[in-house]
This record gives sequence, structure tokens and C-alpha cells, in this order.
Amino acid sequence: MASTICGWCGDRTHMAMQTDPKSVPAQAGYVYTATFQCSNETCLRLSIGTIWRKSNFTNPKSEMPREPVLEWEPKTIRRRSFDDVPQQIAAAASEAHACLSISAYRGAVALARAVVEATAKDHGIVKGPLVAKIDEMHKQSLIREITRELAHEIREGGNEIAHGDLADEPMPPEDAEAIVALMDEILEEVYQGPARMAALKKSRLEREQRNAAKGTEA
Ligand SMILES: [Zn+2]
Repeated sequence: MASTICGWCGDRTHMAMQTDPKSVPAQAGYVYTATFQCSNETCLRLSIGTIWRKSNFTNPKSEMPREPVLEWEPKTIRRRSFDDVPQQIAAAASEAHACLSISAYRGAVALARAVVEATAKDHGIVKGPLVAKIDEMHKQSLIREITRELAHEIREGGNEIAHGDLADEPMPPEDAEAIVALMDEILEEVYQGPARMAALKKSRLEREQRNAAKGTEA
């Protein structure tokens, strides 16, 4: 049985082959494709497994499910949730991760940039290019110095965090990952970290109030 993260339910499951593999002649080899069923009892949906090979399988039915890596449809779409980020910004950030997970790198970068722009705007920072806005966020102590430097480092590497010709430029996966990671860090520092801090403070104050009330009763 092949094992993968099911593109329907998102669990790591075993995929049981349901149909005999079909062999299709392809450039310089063969493509084998078959349907598989997810073993997660709350899912049980079908996915298509595909593999390209230079030579034919001798016994496709037994050999194909033993292949360590098959290409799967539907692909696993991984989103991330950002609980303490304003809803619209969080939705766009989650989509940036979804794009990254299906190798839609330009889409991921375009969304990550939009998220950082919206975060700056949410704090009244609207002037200048994106990197200037990131500098201003640092000046207002919204983000750390190391995060500001990271944004500049990404730009020094010729990256598209700064300007808009996405369609003209190659977008290597590691660059897209670096830009989405920068977006994550900015959201962490601007929204998520302060929200955790505020929640902790609130519960401490409530505890102190309760203790003070007990003190008065006694
Ligand atoms: Zn499943």
C-alpha cells in the first residue's frame, strides 16, 4: 500500500489501490496511473496516483503500490491559521500557504506581499514601497530589527518582495518560501505575539482581582 498525506482529508494514510494501473506511453518512458482509496474511515475518498518510469513494470499491480513516491491528485493543500490576525489579512495569509503547498510560487509571493502591505496599512503606514513600509513598521517598534534586516536581505538577493514584475521573473521555491516565512514572522510580531501577551496579562489581572476579593471577604 502506498502511504501519503491524503489530499481530501489531510491525514497521513495508506492508500489502497482500487483499479489496475493503466500504462500510457510517455516521453522517454511510461506513465502508470491508478485510483487509490484513502484508509481514513471518515474519508475513504479516491485519489489518483501516478508515476513516470523509464521502463515498464513487470507486474504493475503489485509493483506500483510499493513505489515510495507517487504523484497524487488531488494534491494536499496546506493552509495555516492565524487566530489573532484581522480576518481578511489572516485569510490572505492562509491562501499564501495554500499556494506554496501546490508549488504556485508566484501566487504565494503576490499574496505574501499583499498581506505585509495590508498589515502596514492597518497601522496607518501607507507611503512608499513595501521595504520602506517594513522600515517604518520597525521604527514604530511593531517588528524586530532582525525581521527588518531579513526583508532587506531577501531584497538584496534580487527578490520580488520589493517590486512588482512577478510574471517576468523566475521564482525559485526557496525564494517563495523565504518570503512567506517573512510574512509569517511579521504577522507573529505585529499581531500574534502581542495578543498572547495581552491574554496572559488579562488572566493575571483577573486572578489578582479574585484574590483581592477573597481578601476582603476574609
Ligand atoms: Zn483521506
